[in-house]
Amino acid sequence: MMEENCIFCKIIRGEIPSQKVYEDEWVYAFRDINPAAPTHILIVPKEHLASANALEEKHEALVGHILVCARKIAEEQGFAEYGYRIVNNCGENAGQTVFHLHFHVLSGAKFDRMV
Ligand code: 5GP
Ligand code: ZN
Repeated sequence: MMEENCIFCKIIRGEIPSQKVYEDEWVYAFRDINPAAPTHILIVPKEHLASANALEEKHEALVGHILVCARKIAEEQGFAEYGYRIVNNCGENAGQTVFHLHFHVLSGAKFDRMV
């Protein structure tokens, strides 16, 4: 999937509307259109990377930044103390449907353990 046709690149560019939660130089965060929990936020890098399989050493700071953003969003949105789950699906067999790297931040429910 090229950047021109990528749904999340279109959301970042504002070509598709989204409910923005947070934005900075590196990332854009918005509410999932089909929430799997009472709170379901997606954090995506502004750089188009198809999946975690595209990550290289040069992306280490970006990935760390995304996790710090998840913590900041959890505090700002008031669910840090409640607790939350951060999920990345890499590849179709893991459930990835949009091939622009993203991290799900889920809260507001008591989740079953996956691992
Ligand atoms: P994946 O299945 O790839 O891990 O996650 C993709 C997520 O993107 C899904 O939870 C899906 O609901 C969400 N999604 C897909 N298209 C859109 C959209 O156009 N807008 C928003 N806000 N979320 C989307
Ligand atoms: Zn993209």
